[in-house]
Parts: sequence; structure tokens; C-alpha cells
Amino acid sequence: MDTYQLYIGGKFVDAEGGESKPTFNPWNGEAIANIPVASIADAEAAIAAARDAFDNGPWPAMTGAERGEIICALSSKMKERMKDLARLESLDSGGTIAKTGADAFLAQRQMNYFGTMAEKFNSEPKEIEGMSRPGRSYNYTIREPIGVCASIIPWNFPLMMAVWKLGPALGTGNTIVLKPASDTPLSAMELARIVDECGFPPGVVNIISGPGGKIGELLTTHPDVDKIAFTGSTEVGKDIMAKASGTLKKVTLECGGKSPNIVLHDADWDIAIDGSIFASFYHQGQVCESGTRLLLPADQHDDFVGQMVAKLNSLPLGDPLDPATKIGPVVSGSHMSTVLDYIEKGKTEGATLVCGGERAADGDLANGYFIKPTVFTDVTNDMVIAQEEIFGPVLCVMKYQDEDEAVKIANDSIFGLGGGVWSEDIDRARAVAGKMRTGTVWINDWHLLSEQMPFGGYKQSGIGREFGEEGMNEYTEVKALHVDDAKTRENKPWYDMLVPQDAAE
Ligand code: NAP
Ligand code: MG
Repeated sequence: MDTYQLYIGGKFVDAEGGESKPTFNPWNGEAIANIPVASIADAEAAIAAARDAFDNGPWPAMTGAERGEIICALSSKMKERMKDLARLESLDSGGTIAKTGADAFLAQRQMNYFGTMAEKFNSEPKEIEGMSRPGRSYNYTIREPIGVCASIIPWNFPLMMAVWKLGPALGTGNTIVLKPASDTPLSAMELARIVDECGFPPGVVNIISGPGGKIGELLTTHPDVDKIAFTGSTEVGKDIMAKASGTLKKVTLECGGKSPNIVLHDADWDIAIDGSIFASFYHQGQVCESGTRLLLPADQHDDFVGQMVAKLNSLPLGDPLDPATKIGPVVSGSHMSTVLDYIEKGKTEGATLVCGGERAADGDLANGYFIKPTVFTDVTNDMVIAQEEIFGPVLCVMKYQDEDEAVKIANDSIFGLGGGVWSEDIDRARAVAGKMRTGTVWINDWHLLSEQMPFGGYKQSGIGREFGEEGMNEYTEVKALHVDDAKTRENKPWYDMLVPQDAAE
């Protein structure tokens, strides 16, 4: 079994005292690799290395093009290792190989994008025109890195989440300490080995595995950390924001969702049925922007649900590494219990269970954490299963009478991450999309994100955006520069307000 080490200051080191623990495969419960458990002292060492690399190292002062070259080298090496990374990710997270293969492909492409974007974040001055200033001057802004970034990521897209944090932080000249989720540390720890081959100055990238409560809290409160970037649950996001306030760190949060999926009366069912399954059950529903509240026209409801459930029941559960598998296990035994508790809650709240609703443990599924794809109808939006993020293969279906009611239900949520509308009339779909209070809306599609397009949440789904120029900007401070061109004392009459020109002459 492979044993990993922490990556601190450009060196691989054991956790203080040699503490480590295995990470497990949720398909069969077997240990896959030994992962170090960072202590507070290890996390402090990682922060110190990142601080030193930012304050005294070459990285922040390098040109964007120079940084971009190293980041693109990382992307190339990730591309060479795509198959291995996908396999490790499937073993550690239970994601099907189709999903983790797509993740590994997208992760290297996204890293390349961040490398390319780095060239544009080159302290190029941006002149401000039409300034209302007295006298003559030249005024411009530059974007500079914030400093030391700490990033904390979840277990659903471990490799991609690592890239979404490393890429923009590094591309804009910051240094970083990255902490993966304890359930799925493997791909980030493997990524550290790849990072080490690329020529980053020591301390620019630090990757440490360890418990979120302890290490996360240190990263969130430490005075030498300038920014915290978090992806995870809304509950932990709120805790991080509160703790970061002590040092007024910059904070970006990508949190939970309960995304509404509105099928309009004229939708093309050929794509809307498969699309709604894709929206809700991809990666066993463990996706932050999953379409977990399906809103159907009342008169089409029964037919739509009937056709959807027939398809859903035909999807094979099994070994994530078997290409035939469509539904893998959820990430852990404790997460399985959480999801099953929500299913029980749905039953007692009075929703109608139309499929699934229990663990699948027949035959070779016996040692895995499988939940049958579950659909509830007769859900009302005030039920707990409609309001809270379940983060598993559980879909809530609701009926609506007209579009206004659909939009009202859609927006009646503390979350605002994703949303979707299905219609053959694009203008009509766009009108509905315009009324949805969410950071992303898909029309006749779901889950497609692109590195050029900002992603993030309205309301309690988050703060800030990832991807695109907006995403890069989240990792920069703006410096305003005023350069005098008036030159002589006579040309600066505003000093007279305090100092007369003939004072003490
Ligand atoms: P989580 O429990 O919030 O954990 C996320 C990360 O935070 C993990 O690395 C965890 O470490 C760490 N953590 C836990 N407690 C902490 C604390 N008190 N202070 C600092 N860090 C702490 O979330 P999860 O269950 O892993 O992931 C699922 C959630 O992520 C869902 O709510 C989902 O919607 C959200 N998500 C959002 C997006 C998005 O872009 N909006 C994307 C993916 C996932 P340990 O693992 O060691 O506990
Ligand atoms: Mg695991």
C-alpha cells in the first residue's frame, strides 16, 4: 500500500510524530493508501513556508508569462497522468470511471486555462480615463496577488476542486496551502507529487491532509493567511466566514445548493427526462448544483415521472471501475447514513416514495455504500427534504399550475447555486431563467461548466465566483496609483487649503 507524505516548502515530509491513517474505497471498504494526518505544527509549517515564499521568494514578482509557463507544465504532466488520476479518484471517492475520467480530463484542461490566464495578470496598468482630479496626473490601477491563500476542498470532485483553487491562486501570483477532504485526500496528495516535478519555487504550493475541524480552523484564523477559499457545506462555510472575520481575511465560499429544475409544458421530453436524471443523479447526486427539486406541470406530472422512474430503475449499480456501472457508492458509510436518514424523514413528512428509498446491498454490493436512486413525489416545498441539501441520490418532485408558481417555488430556498429550465421555446425559457435567483441557469441542459464562465452562488450558496476573469480577480487586490504630472507648486493650488504659497517666506 502506497504511503503519502505532506508537501511543505517543496519537500515531502511525514506528519509530526508520523501520524497517518488509511483512506478507504467506498465500493468495498478496503484501505487504499496511507495518508498523513497533519498536526497543528505541520499546518503552521505549511503556512510559514507559503508566507516565506510570498514575502521573500521569486514567485509574486515573476511575470504572468513566467508563472503561466510553470502552471501549463503542471497541466501537461497532469495530462500524461490522466488515467492514473482518474483511477485513484474512483478508488477513493466511489465516482464511476466515466465521471472521474471526465474530471481528470477537465482538470488538466482547466489548469492549462489558468496558466494561460496568468499571462493576462501581469501587473499591466489599466489607465483610468476621465478622472475628476485637479491638475495634471496619470492614474491607473494594477492587480496584485493577495498573499498567502488557504484552500479547503470537499470530497465530491476532489481533483477538480484542487485545480479550481490552485489554478487561480497561482496564476495571479499568490502562494497556497491546500487541504483536501479527509474522505478523499488521494488525488490531491498525488497531485503534490506532480507539482513537485514542475519547477515551482519551494513553498509556493503546500498540500496537507488533516482533519477539517482542527487544521481548517488554524488556516481560517491564522494571521499569516491573507485569503481563504472554501468549497463545502453551507454550515462549515458560515463557520469559516465567522472565524475569518477575526483577521478580516478575504473569503470566497462555494457552498451548498438545492437547485430547482423547471420543466415547462412545451419541453422536449426526449432530452428533458434523461436530462433531469442527469441533473439529479450524476455522481449519486453528490454534486453541489444537482437539480434536486424537479418542478413539473401538474397535468404532465404522472406521465413524466413514470417514464423517468422506468429509466432510473434500469441504471446498473456496481464497481466504479467497471465501465458498465452508472451508479457507484456514496462516499462513505457515515454519508450513507445521513442520506438514508433524509429518506426516512421524507417518508414521515408525507412524501410518496416512488422508487428506491433504501440501501442496495445485494451480491457484490454488500460491502459498498450503495443507495438505490430515490424519487419522492407529492413533495411540498416546505418539507425538510425540499429545503435541505441531501447530497445523495434523492430527487424531490413537485407539481405546479403555471410558470409564476414554478418560479415562486424555485426561488423559495435559502440556496441559489444552480437551476434549469426545459422548453422548446428558448425565449420563454430565458424569461423564466431571468426570474430565477441562482448563479447558473441551464436551458435544456445541466452540469456543463466551463473554465471561461464564472460559477458561484446567490444567497446562502456562496460568496464570489470561480472561473473566468471574475474568478481570477477574486485572488487579487487592486492597487490605485496616482502619478503627479503638475510638477510645479503653482500648479498645485489645492495645497493652499492648508499651506499658503507664501507661508514663512
Ligand atoms: P464539508 O463537511 O463542509 O467539508 C468540506 C471541507 O471543509 C473538508 O475539507 C473538511 O475537512 C473541511 N472542514 C470541515 N469542518 C471544518 C471547519 N470547522 N473549518 C474549516 N474546514 C472544515 O463538506 P463536504 O461534506 O466535504 O462536501 C459537501 C458539501 O460541499 C455540500 O454541501 C456541497 O454542496 C458543497 N460543495 C459545493 C460546491 C460549490 O462549488 N458550490 C462544490 C462541491 C461541493 P474534513 O474532510 O477533514 O472534515
Ligand atoms: Mg476514500
